[in-house]
Amino acid sequence: MNALETVERLKQRFPNEPEYIQAVSQVLGTIEDEYNRHPEFEQANLIDRLCIPDRIISFRVTWVDDKGKVQTNMGYRVQHNNAIGPYKGGIRFHASVTPSVLKFLAFEQTFKNALTTLPMGGAKGGSDFNPHGKSDAEVMRFCQAFMNELYRHIGPDEDVPAGDIGVGGREVGYMFGQYKKLTHQFVGVLTGKGLQFGGSLIRPEATGYGNVYFLESMLQTRGIELKGKRVLVSGSGNVAQYTVEKLIELGAVPVTLSDSDGYIYDPDGIDADKLAFVMELKNEKRGRIKEYAEKYGVKYVAGARPWGEKADIALPSATQDEIEEADARSLVANGVIAVSEGANMPSTPEAIEIFQQAKLLYAPGKAANAGGVAVSGLEMSQNSERLSWTREQVDERLKMIMSDIHQNCVKYGTQPDGYINYVRGANVAGFLKVAKAMMAQGIV
Ligand code: NDP
Repeated sequence: MNALETVERLKQRFPNEPEYIQAVSQVLGTIEDEYNRHPEFEQANLIDRLCIPDRIISFRVTWVDDKGKVQTNMGYRVQHNNAIGPYKGGIRFHASVTPSVLKFLAFEQTFKNALTTLPMGGAKGGSDFNPHGKSDAEVMRFCQAFMNELYRHIGPDEDVPAGDIGVGGREVGYMFGQYKKLTHQFVGVLTGKGLQFGGSLIRPEATGYGNVYFLESMLQTRGIELKGKRVLVSGSGNVAQYTVEKLIELGAVPVTLSDSDGYIYDPDGIDADKLAFVMELKNEKRGRIKEYAEKYGVKYVAGARPWGEKADIALPSATQDEIEEADARSLVANGVIAVSEGANMPSTPEAIEIFQQAKLLYAPGKAANAGGVAVSGLEMSQNSERLSWTREQVDERLKMIMSDIHQNCVKYGTQPDGYINYVRGANVAGFLKVAKAMMAQGIV
């Protein structure tokens, strides 16, 4: 397999899918050597079968807004690969959702889920529905209309969706309710559910906490302490909020947060009280991060991202391609020692190149943010057992899983000069597990 030629071929087959091509080319470049050590992979054309999703379901979602106007959106589910377990991956509601974005996320999810050590295949879904400014009733009607079509394609042993951008506990609850109404079944078909109806403790916290656990493991490889370090966090949703919570608990100093309108910089650090304000602002009032700056009298920069501020660590936790080449240059120039991705593919290929050349500790999302789906996997186990584990039990499992992922990255990613290439480590470890399972199951 020649990675460049394969990417070129995929580009011609899927010409309007830049995010998908970006994700595939990043992975293929790092697994090429390993793949070519196994001639049986090439004979089974494993590469096409791994890059092209098993199936893509697309449908129209029709719903009625509060003014009685009939609205339409697109809905999708990309079921990428189920070689090691049922399809599993989040649902994203955002105006920027396209088949290309979901194909990139489902492709990444397949390797990420393999890394968690749990039996989960990879999928992703969503809609171009924009939840901003919608009432609760509108969000409910939309979720119900979305599920009216999706329910045919999912199930606890078939495909188990979860949340992602624009889909939190409220949306998962509405979708679960509609699934139950349509099928008459109370089963673990979605994760991220409320605690009263089968949700797992620590699931809301898992992605942010897991990223900070992974960051600690990376810092330990260089004997560096997290305590006292100043940290740039982007986003202000689920992942960003619990990243900040864990950073505060461990004595680090988070200094930024953002949303799609701009970022805030708080030189004194975001403390527990200020975080409580952010959680209420974002999760209850559904307001803008600008209001933090107004309340605490700190700097707000409209239309920009926080990467120009001085700090020790960066944890991008908003969306894809939010760290571009110039941002990466300024992070390196400002002396950042580690970048660990809470979001999926937040760094462009050019930015990653800069981090790796500067020998920064750099962890790709598929390793660093795998804690979210890992605890989703634990939610599935609890649902199958019809039991709920304690907060401590789940947190302990999460810590172990993040540590195992880190070890796997070290195993497959350590270069002769001692630098740990976490991108290579994560890609090779995830790929080998899926590839071996596919080979064992024949040409299907
Ligand atoms: P939320 O919807 O809770 O929060 C997303 C945050 O990012 C919001 O602050 C949002 O701002 C901001 N944002 C979204 N799109 C853009 C954009 N195009 N430009 C600038 N800011 C943007 O989502 P999550 O916190 O759940 O997800 C964040 C990232 O983490 C995503 O990449 C997701 O795929 C990834 N992830 C999430 C997991 C989870 O468990 N939730 C698991 C693993 C990865 P605004 O409010 O203005 O839209």
